[in-house]
Amino acid sequence: MNNIEWGKLPFGYVKTHYNVRCYYRDGKWGEIEVSSDEYINIHIAATCLHYGQEAFEGLKVFTGKDGSLRVFRWDENAKRMISSANGVMMAPPPMELFLEMLEKIVRLNSDFVPPYGTGASLYVRPLLIGTGAQVGVSPAKEYLFMIFVSPVGPYFKEGFKPVKMQIVRDVDRAAPHGTGRFKVGGNYAASLSSVVRAHQEGYGSVLYLDAKEKKYIDEAGPANFFGIKNNTYITPDSTSILQSITNMSLRQLATDMGLQVEVRPVPVEELNTFEETGACGTAAVITPIGEIIDRETGDKYTFGNEPGAVSTKLYQTLQGIQYGDVPDKYGWIHVIG
Ligand SMILES: *Cc1c(COP(=O)(O)O)cnc(C)c1O
Repeated sequence: MNNIEWGKLPFGYVKTHYNVRCYYRDGKWGEIEVSSDEYINIHIAATCLHYGQEAFEGLKVFTGKDGSLRVFRWDENAKRMISSANGVMMAPPPMELFLEMLEKIVRLNSDFVPPYGTGASLYVRPLLIGTGAQVGVSPAKEYLFMIFVSPVGPYFKEGFKPVKMQIVRDVDRAAPHGTGRFKVGGNYAASLSSVVRAHQEGYGSVLYLDAKEKKYIDEAGPANFFGIKNNTYITPDSTSILQSITNMSLRQLATDMGLQVEVRPVPVEELNTFEETGACGTAAVITPIGEIIDRETGDKYTFGNEPGAVSTKLYQTLQGIQYGDVPDKYGWIHVIG
């Protein structure tokens, strides 16, 4: 057992008992290894260190009222990991391997899954890296797929409150035909300078525009963007955004609530017409946006100091499904026995 104060957990790293690892060598995946070491030993010429052969995932496990350990849509994360791996020429971990390692690590660290009612959850971080040595630019022949977990509190300490976002035009996180649609670390490296600057300037996050024309909204740092107006849920269609599983789920829930759903390019000026806006992702589910300032033009779009009714209902429904308080109509939850 451990003596964690679940209600006070930050969204950060907490050491747990074990992590799980699996190496890809000689064209095949090996045995799953269990480790209590937080470090990995890799070759100095490993491709992950030089040429960015790295992809990751993020998903959560929740404790239900009945004590069950509930994973949300792991199959979508496993599929996206395969897509990201293929995107940067890495060996993709098969879905069955992903699930086996996921179940193993959750069982091994089950006392780190926060109890029902604490608002906390177990964050699961699968990671795939090129470990084979290459000096010339080419994909590695060896890969390491691992999963570690960390109990996390709610993403925003202040709770479900609107944040301020900054539109940036002098930095792009991804190009139209680049790696934006893959969950790879390089996209984050590209975003850091603008994200750190936005924090220093008092914003919760950054809103990127399409890199080519700077006309349309792409996404919000590590989260997708959506806007609500006229009983419609609108989210950008773009080749350079990461397809968020939370966004996919919210679109379904919005449809169930009787909203229209539109996935299409969203011009920046359309911000003037939205009744509510938000960012969505696994970490926070929904971050309502209260105000958006365009750093270059000074244009300001305001949505109020309280979360909108639609965003709130979507947020509560999705969280309800995750914790088991709302029926899981679509089989999104996998219970780890
Ligand atoms: C992970 C991520 C998201 C959110 O995706 P979810 O599947 O909802 O967690 C959005 N944008 C980027 C760039 C991401 O890396």
